[in-house]
Amino acid sequence: TDGPFFRGCTDVIDYLNDPSYVKMDATFIMLTKNEELNDVLKTIESIETHFNQWFKYPYVFLNNVPFTEDFQFAIMSMTDADVQFGTIDEIDWEFPEEVRDSPLFKSTMDDQSDRGVMYGSMESYHKMCRFYSGLFYKHPLMRKHKWYWRLEPDVEFFCDITYDPFFEMAKSGKKYGFTVLIPEMYWTVPNLFRFTKSFVKDLNLKVGTLWQLFVRNYHITDTHDDDELSRWSNNAADLEYEISANIAIDYTLNEDPNNEEGIQHLVAKAKSKIPLVEDKFDDQEYNLCHFWSNFEIARLDVFDNEIYNAYFQYLEEAGGFWAERWGDAPVHSLGLALTLNLEDIHYFRDVGYRHSILHHCPRNFELLDVTEPEYRAMQPKYERKGMKYDKGFSDGIG
Ligand code: GDP
Ligand code: MN
Repeated sequence: TDGPFFRGCTDVIDYLNDPSYVKMDATFIMLTKNEELNDVLKTIESIETHFNQWFKYPYVFLNNVPFTEDFQFAIMSMTDADVQFGTIDEIDWEFPEEVRDSPLFKSTMDDQSDRGVMYGSMESYHKMCRFYSGLFYKHPLMRKHKWYWRLEPDVEFFCDITYDPFFEMAKSGKKYGFTVLIPEMYWTVPNLFRFTKSFVKDLNLKVGTLWQLFVRNYHITDTHDDDELSRWSNNAADLEYEISANIAIDYTLNEDPNNEEGIQHLVAKAKSKIPLVEDKFDDQEYNLCHFWSNFEIARLDVFDNEIYNAYFQYLEEAGGFWAERWGDAPVHSLGLALTLNLEDIHYFRDVGYRHSILHHCPRNFELLDVTEPEYRAMQPKYERKGMKYDKGFSDGIG
């Protein structure tokens, strides 16, 4: 009755001692810089306090330059768990030579700051996005594991997590988990979806049903009209955000196997709002939604598989990691949609999470006990209240 996951009221020691529980082949991963030590320590303190003091999953820290001894000692003093520090090969971090030598490289990068693309002219940010898009899961320290939990400096967990999310995900057949879903800034990814669709067509792929979460049925009339575009992206973000949020909740929250009628109703509702995957593929546009990837709990093989690896290679050749500022979050989301179905995704609505200025607070869900059957009756009211940035899905700014 409580959904597939535990809700934090379980005694963690009982949980660990349950004979059916097995520790998973999983690791935390954080790509970070020596200079970020203070914020890294804040994250470690939070995750240790609220989770890892009991579960003792190892950590992998990656950096494009070696971590200093001070950095390593400071981290190791915070946890009993195993900690590995790795350096990223130059070839996985730097843009390929022919790209770096191209006369367009620098001017294209500069141009992105002119157009107000957040971090657009910051070369290291592009490298970070590219590394997280297609290379983090190939690092030798990651290759050893099946599951990972991504962390960043300056992350805060608000609630105790008294169950093992890897184990519970595996048990209920989930492959990728998120806490926050937000719209991307249009100018960072103007051509990402176009290339993604051409990849799908070139390979004649049958995408997963997760694809529906990221598609809108809308035409941009004039891509060179700034006003039109900003209106488009604002409206799209608002509208699609709400639709996506509802659908994701419908699918990942209301998995009540006893209410077949309810499920059919929700599926019909979802389909009436979003075109079918096969439907009008050429007309489909990206709604800019993506899982906020600074928090991810997932299997490594959702990325390390033939299709996703080919997708990354295709994007690499398309040049968008430097000619545009494709973020790893929209790349992950669209890339996952190539292979995964909605039911492969888990929304960690019970994980209180903050990173920089965005947070997700599970209390907003507790106020409405969405696991109760009455939730369905309440849903229209809930929608009317405008479940956007401030009610439960992503709690948005502040
Ligand atoms: P934001 O969350 O999108 O603002 O991006 P961040 O600046 O937080 O970067 C995402 C992650 O990549 C963080 O864990 C950073 O520490 C890390 N990161 C970003 N740029 C670099 C870099 O140049 N070198 C290293 N080693 N880590 C980086
Ligand atoms: Mn960050």
